[in-house]
Order: sequence, then structure tokens, then C-alpha cells
Amino acid sequence: MVIDASGFARAGQTLDGRIETQRLVRLCQDLPESQSGEIRWQVQGRFDAPSGQAWLDIEAQGDVQVVCQRCLEPFGLTLRVSRTLGLVDTQAQLDAMDALETEGRGPEIEYLVAERDLDVLGLVEDELILAMPYAPRHDVCPGDGNLPEPSRRSSPFAVLKDLGKN
Ligand SMILES: [Zn+2]
Repeated sequence: MVIDASGFARAGQTLDGRIETQRLVRLCQDLPESQSGEIRWQVQGRFDAPSGQAWLDIEAQGDVQVVCQRCLEPFGLTLRVSRTLGLVDTQAQLDAMDALETEGRGPEIEYLVAERDLDVLGLVEDELILAMPYAPRHDVCPGDGNLPEPSRRSSPFAVLKDLGKN
């Protein structure tokens, strides 16, 4: 599914849909194989005529199975994306915006080069990947509280658990 990003935004168009989580292969590459959920997504274009600035508003929400980095058991996590990207015409403009932002002088907005054949689902997937926690964990691990402390320490996964705490 591709759009002309600039034309899409100027026309104020909207695209939405649902996709099975498992079809987002980049998102799922380091996740458990059993991905039964789906992602709902929407991309909406906006154009501010006075400034000539075009925007894409990206919303997505859905469930992914992840591995808890504390107890190493899989669990379902709800990912939510709500993000606005400003469109620029060229990579050079994008680099200039990024440089300003790095110097702390630019607006805290992410920009995107307005491709004529922008892959909408690829864009949604990029944002989902960014929304993914670096080290997902249960709020309370299912094993907590009923596992005696000594056996937890002797677990071969203890080292991994400790790594996950950082
Ligand atoms: Zn856990």
C-alpha cells in the first residue's frame, strides 16, 4: 500500500486498516513466534496552507507477544502509537532539521521525506518498532511471591534476569 505522501497530506486524506501482527515481519523478528493479535492503524494527512507545512498523523494500537526480560515468560503487551511527522521535500532538508534538533534549536518534531511512493504499512511498522520497550517486563512476574528466594538465585537464568534490570 503506497501513497504519494505530499499529495495525500495536502488532500487531507485518511487511510486505515487492520493487520495481523505476525505479518509485520520486522516488528516480529525478535519476538515469540506465536503472534495471534492484530494491529489497528490509521494514517491521516494534514496541510497547513499559510506555512505550507504538510503532516502525517499516525495512530496504531494492537497486541504483541513479547518475552519478559525478568522471568523470560512470554506475555501480551499493548503497543500504542500516536505520532505526527512533518513532511519535507528532500533528504537535505531532513538532515538540516535533524542538525537543528541535535543542537537543541529546532522544534521537537520528527520529519520524514515526502516520498511519492511511501509504503504506509512500512511507516506504521517503523513507528510500532520505535514504540516497543527496550526490555519489556511484567508489572508483576507470575512466578514472583511463590518461588523461594534460594532457588531463584540458583536458576540458570539468574544472570539474564540481572542483566534485564539495567
Ligand atoms: Zn515476568
